[in-house]
Amino acid sequence: MRAIYLNDGYEVELRDLPEPEPGADEVLVRVQAGGICGTDMSVYANNHFLRRAPQILGHEVSGEVVRTGSAVHGWGPGDRVFVSPLVVCGECAACRAGRPTQCESAKLPGLDLPGLFSDLIAMPAKVLHRLPDQVNWRAGAMIEPTSVAHHAVRRAEPAKGSSVAVLGAGPIGALAALICHHVHEARLLVSDLKPSNLDLLTRLTGAATVDPSAASVVETGREMTDGVGFDVVLVANHSPQCLADAIQMARSGGRVVAIAAAYEGLPEVNVPMLVWHELELRGTFAFDDDDIRSVIELIAAGMPVEELATHVHRPEDATAVFAAMAAGDGGHMKTLFEFV
Ligand SMILES: [Zn+2]
Ligand SMILES: [Zn+2]
Repeated sequence: MRAIYLNDGYEVELRDLPEPEPGADEVLVRVQAGGICGTDMSVYANNHFLRRAPQILGHEVSGEVVRTGSAVHGWGPGDRVFVSPLVVCGECAACRAGRPTQCESAKLPGLDLPGLFSDLIAMPAKVLHRLPDQVNWRAGAMIEPTSVAHHAVRRAEPAKGSSVAVLGAGPIGALAALICHHVHEARLLVSDLKPSNLDLLTRLTGAATVDPSAASVVETGREMTDGVGFDVVLVANHSPQCLADAIQMARSGGRVVAIAAAYEGLPEVNVPMLVWHELELRGTFAFDDDDIRSVIELIAAGMPVEELATHVHRPEDATAVFAAMAAGDGGHMKTLFEFV
């Protein structure tokens, strides 16, 4: 089978690897579509804090069940599925407390398990989620990042009609804005350096936008909220400036949720401002099964996550695709591979 493989020279190649054999509690899935994540790009650039080559890349996929291990019930050949890449134990204190994102022995593709960009993958049956007919393969490959965004929005707890600023409109920020629009009818301000990202979000959510290289994000937010500030500010970019801006932009009693974590060094936080304005600063990490279920429902009901898939390629083009993405723009929001 074909696999998109990062070799120990940090070159992406399409490698022919043996097909995996599913264990008793595992399911063999034929991958249909898979999305490139920021994590894949940072492994490729060899600047990820944990992950190293060699490995099969990828962890955001949709696919079709081929066959099941002997102990698996409820799944059969032809079932259309989203495969969650977060394999949690279900038994540790965090899992039992309903916080699987903090599982002490979580296993992840590309770290403890093979990556998922290959024709066939063997994964535990417990991480499969059924795809309704309305959710096509491309949208299915968007479920993982949309679940990350959904968890972030849940952590932000916006009320209906809230004012929300999203700083950084890469895929996660963009998907969070989409959810704030579709679920919470939020009044949105989105900032990003890429005009193509801003245009896409204005079209999909009606968001006001600001390019931080052209105007002050804080000032734009102040004008938009008549000096009051935002109920919620989501920080989906790892520039320390975004975090500093976010704390300036939240209203008194507002909430700042940090999504991005890949800071160079540790950013400073304006603690006096947090104190004076009684702000809440929260973190958010990954997602749980509730997020996945909600996201599948939202997509089935028409939330247009597929619109973010600006580029779709064949696995055979993987070497060139990674090189082009690492080299910069080209108007990429989300890039997918279609395997079949
Ligand atoms: Zn991802
Ligand atoms: Zn656990």
